Amino acid sequence: MIVSEFDTIAAISTPLGEGGIGIIRLSGPEAISIANKIFQSPRGIRLHNVKTHTIHYGFVVDPETNERIDEVLISVMRAPNTYTKEDVVEINCHGGFIILNRILNIIIKQGARLAEPGEFTKRAFLRGRIDLSQAESVIDLIKAKTDEAQKIALEHLSGKLSQKINSLRDSLTRICAHVEAYIDFPEEDIDGLTEMEIENEISRIANEIEGLIEGYEEGKIYREGLTTAIVGKPNVGKSSLLNALLMKDRAIVTEIPGTTRDLIEEYVNIKGIPLKIIDTAGIRQAYDLVEAEGIKRTLKAIEEAELVLLVLDTSRAIDSLDMEIIQKVKDKKVIAILNKKDIKSKDFSLPNELKNKPMVEISALTGEGIDELKELIFNTSISKRYRQEGLIVTKLRHKIALEKAFESLQSALRSFKNKEPLEITAMFIREALNYLGQIVGIVTTEEILNLIFSEFCIGK
Ligand code: GDP
Repeated sequence: MIVSEFDTIAAISTPLGEGGIGIIRLSGPEAISIANKIFQSPRGIRLHNVKTHTIHYGFVVDPETNERIDEVLISVMRAPNTYTKEDVVEINCHGGFIILNRILNIIIKQGARLAEPGEFTKRAFLRGRIDLSQAESVIDLIKAKTDEAQKIALEHLSGKLSQKINSLRDSLTRICAHVEAYIDFPEEDIDGLTEMEIENEISRIANEIEGLIEGYEEGKIYREGLTTAIVGKPNVGKSSLLNALLMKDRAIVTEIPGTTRDLIEEYVNIKGIPLKIIDTAGIRQAYDLVEAEGIKRTLKAIEEAELVLLVLDTSRAIDSLDMEIIQKVKDKKVIAILNKKDIKSKDFSLPNELKNKPMVEISALTGEGIDELKELIFNTSISKRYRQEGLIVTKLRHKIALEKAFESLQSALRSFKNKEPLEITAMFIREALNYLGQIVGIVTTEEILNLIFSEFCIGK
């Protein structure tokens, strides 16, 4: 990768559609001179003369026809203090699709190349402004569905995960140096480190890596949401509960194009966890569970769910249909929701199967108990440990690298304890270092990079 040979790239950085303003971004050695060729300033300003990080009023003109295209504000940011560490120009124009595309076309004609998805961020990485895990967190930041997910992504972007990985790598490098020193000078006790101390240090690092791996499942919850089924027989209050949850905290409704409305996904924001409710159309229809279709949908929802919210009606006694559903969910992660507490009947008693499950009494009608329910959902999904440390692994790629590093360290420990030749221990430690290096991008390949940046949108 020869960084100095980068050309100048351009892209529309705002979403396509009609908006108040749209932004076209240019980055590279020719960014300012290309912008200058299409810029007309009423005060005669030439962009190559202006100070860095300044913004200028004028018009974009097509240099071939001299036609004015739009009234714009152009920001000029010179390397190296920019997003890509290259010269960057941002053209703020009016947000219409036609205008943005015409301006982009003119820029391309003047010698810029259309940027690939994520190419601005890729340059920031290749030029060393951010490391690979930071670059990846830019995607998470853009795609964040709740404040909490956004916060975690920003922490990663600011380098919290990278610092942790780098500090683990530093410790491993030190240990590796000790082990290799033993190989070269077996008679000496290098730096006073005993075998026991070396063993302990490798174990300590392996433990820390293991903790990060465990945190991944929770990181995934913040990033992708927790797939949740609301189940119960007809009329227990499922739709009312869904509405009560959605009322204040609806996060996002996504309609998957080309599918029926059954596949509408709704997210509820539970203290930062995006809860993805399965089959909301089915819940709202309050289909008759006795019918084959209703049963089929319920079973499918239970099967897909990572969390089941089982709704029971406490205004009457439990019946065989309730029991049938309880049988189906009892091996899942389930919260028993005892609804209609405002009209609770003496005939209701909790079935034994649910006695040691988390449970909460609510009234979906009055809203009583909804906050306790949210608390319960949060506490059953997220352990405190990782939140306190504020360090959550959210990427599968990172988790896999951590798992491999962990395995390598286990092998290192085994060979060290078995008094195998120290070269073997050192080799395993180097292997672990290599895997950790993949996370921050010290060790990388073009293939990994292409895979990562293809997830981005164009213009970022
Ligand atoms: P679903 O078939 O499980 O979706 O149940 P619904 O949400 O449609 O509720 C069935 C009926 O129970 C409706 O008339 C609701 O107004 C009523 N209902 C739901 N929750 C409560 C509650 O907490 N208290 C009382 N009193 N009625 C409720």
